[in-house]
Amino acid sequence: MEKPTQCAVVGGGPAGIVLGLFLARAGVHVTVLEKHADFLRDFRGDTVHASTLRLLDELGLGDGFRQLPQSRMDNFRLPAGSGEFVLADFGLLKEPYNYVAMVPQWDLLNFLVDAARQEPCFTLIMNAEATDLLTDGSGAVAGVRYRIKDPITGGTLETHDLQAPLTVACDGRGSVLRAKSGLTPKEFPVPFDVWWFRLSRDPEEIERVASISPRFGDSDVLLSLTRRDYHQIAYLAAKGSDPELRAEGVDAFRNRIARLRPDLSDRVGEILSMDNLHLLDVKLNRLATWHKPGLLLIGDAAHAMSPAGGVGINLAVQDAVAAARILAPALLDGSLDDHTLAAVQKRRWLPTVIVQTFQRLMHRAIFNQVMAGKQPKPPRALVFLSRKFPLFRKIPARMLAFGPLPEHAPGFARRKPDA
Ligand SMILES: Cc1cc2nc3c(=O)[nH]c(=O)nc-3n(C[C@H](O)[C@H](O)[C@H](O)COP(=O)(O)OP(=O)(O)OC[C@H]3O[C@@H](n4cnc5c(N)ncnc54)[C@H](O)[C@@H]3O)c2cc1C
Repeated sequence: MEKPTQCAVVGGGPAGIVLGLFLARAGVHVTVLEKHADFLRDFRGDTVHASTLRLLDELGLGDGFRQLPQSRMDNFRLPAGSGEFVLADFGLLKEPYNYVAMVPQWDLLNFLVDAARQEPCFTLIMNAEATDLLTDGSGAVAGVRYRIKDPITGGTLETHDLQAPLTVACDGRGSVLRAKSGLTPKEFPVPFDVWWFRLSRDPEEIERVASISPRFGDSDVLLSLTRRDYHQIAYLAAKGSDPELRAEGVDAFRNRIARLRPDLSDRVGEILSMDNLHLLDVKLNRLATWHKPGLLLIGDAAHAMSPAGGVGINLAVQDAVAAARILAPALLDGSLDDHTLAAVQKRRWLPTVIVQTFQRLMHRAIFNQVMAGKQPKPPRALVFLSRKFPLFRKIPARMLAFGPLPEHAPGFARRKPDA
C-alpha cells in the first residue's frame, strides 16, 4: 500500500494531464497514472483550438507554447457536390485567437507536464497501468490498483494500490475504469474506421496539400498530419471493411492512396504489406451518468469523440478545466460528495451533446454519403450562406474554435507569463 493522494487521475492524455496541472496549481495532491512510457502517440489528432490557446495564455504558458514547432490552420473546408466550400474562416475571429494550432500531441503533453512538474503537489507515474478500482466497505470507489509495466516486455514489475478520496478516469475511449465501474455508454453509429500509416517526407519539402486537408475519394477519405520527416496518414473507409481491404492486398491499397494523394504516389511503395496499417475502430458514444461515489469520468472515457471536425482534444481539455474548478475547493476542504461530481457533469453535458450532435450531422451529411460512393450533401442553406456571405463563416469558426460554453482558467490556476 502506498501513500494516499487526494486525487488519483488515470490516463495521461489531454484530459488527465490538464486536470493534474490545474489541481496541482490549486494545492491538491494529485497523482496521474499513464500506462505508456512516453507520450509519443501518432494515432491522435494534433489540433489545439483557440479555446485551449486562450487557456494557455491564462495559465501564463502561452509564450512557451508558441515556441513549439507548429503550423496554423486558418480555415476548415468541406466537400459540396464535386467541389468544396469554406465552412469556417478562423481569420475572421479576433486576434490572437484566430487560428487552430497544429502541434504534435506529444509536444503539447510534454510541455504541459513540464509546467505541472513545477508544482510540488503534482506526481506523474509513467508505465503505470490501472487495472482495477478499489472500493471501501460501503462500495464507494476508494482508489485504484495499478501495475508498473516492464517497458520492453509489457510484463508486470510491481502491483500497487493507490488510495484516494476521488479517482478520475481519463483513460480514453477504451476506458478500463469505465468497464470496471459497470457504467455503459450509449453508442451512436459511425460510418467509417481509420487505418493509420506513415509515408516518408523530405524535411525541406513544401506541402502541395495543406496539412490535415481531407482528400475525398469515391468511397474513402484521406487525412495527413505533417511531421518533420514523415507524413502521418489516416485513411478512412466504410466501417467493418478491414477484412475486405486486407483481402484486396497491398497493391490495391497503394493505388487507393495514390488516387487520393497523387503527390505522394512516388512513395506508396513504402507500405510494404498490409501489416504496416494500424486499424482504429472509431467510436462515438456517451455515458448517461459520468460518476459514482468516489469516481468521476471525463474526456473520451465519458464521451468518445469521432475525428469529424477534430474537436475531441479540446473537449477533453474543457472537461478537465471545468472539473478542476469544481473539484479543487471540495477536495481541499473535504466536502467532496456525489453532488460535487454531478455538478461537473451538469456543467459539461450541454457542450458535449452539442458537439456530438454536430459530429453526427457531419457523419450523415458527409461521411455516410462518401462511404456509400455518393456525393456529399452538406445542408444546402449552409453552402449557400457561406458562398454568398463570406462573413457568415465567422459563426461556424467561433463554434469550432471555442466550442459551446468555453471554459476560462479559474483564479487558482492563473500565473503571470514569466512566473
Ligand atoms: C482517428 C482519430 C483522430 C482524431 N483526431 C482529432 C483531432 O485532430 N483533433 C481533436 O481535437 N481530436 C481528435 N480526435 C479525438 C481525440 O483524440 C480525443 O477526443 C481526445 O484525445 C480525448 O482525450 P482524453 O484525454 O480523454 O483521452 P486520450 O487522449 O485517449 O488519453 C487517454 C490516456 O489514458 C492512457 N490510458 C489508457 N488506459 C489506461 C490505463 N488503464 N491506465 C493508465 N493509463 C491509461 C492512454 O495511454 C492515454 O494516454 C481524434 C480521434 C480519433 C479516433
